[in-house]
Amino acid sequence: MTEPSIFTRILNGEIPGEILAETDRLFALRDIAPQAPVHLLVIPKTQEYPNVAELAAADPALLAELIEFAEKLAVEHTEDGDFRLVFNTGANAGQTVFHVHAHVLGGGLSERSVGA
Ligand code: 5GP
Repeated sequence: MTEPSIFTRILNGEIPGEILAETDRLFALRDIAPQAPVHLLVIPKTQEYPNVAELAAADPALLAELIEFAEKLAVEHTEDGDFRLVFNTGANAGQTVFHVHAHVLGGGLSERSVGA
């Protein structure tokens, strides 16, 4: 059986972590090492999808729910509601937790967007 991910262990109360909000299938945490004034993680409660590509292929409705939830959280946690959504996909792209999650970054980012 797959080991529970760090996010599953937080969800199950096995290690500390404040769950900011949740739906039937998703939950949100503040990132422990914020890279922006607002840096949240939106995470499916299931850990069966290691990355966003697998989530999109298997359950596109859950991916759409995740984006809708991210937008709602950005509106609640930032003044302007603007946000950047990042899915690191693969170790060489910086992914460290292989339980799909979106980084929701906001609250005053550089004007320069990724890749620009
Ligand atoms: P990745 O590098 O996989 O895209 O993102 C994993 C994120 O999880 C990192 O930004 C890291 O700071 C965050 N993280 C790792 N461990 C914990 C933890 O125990 N609690 C919280 N809230 N975030 C964590």
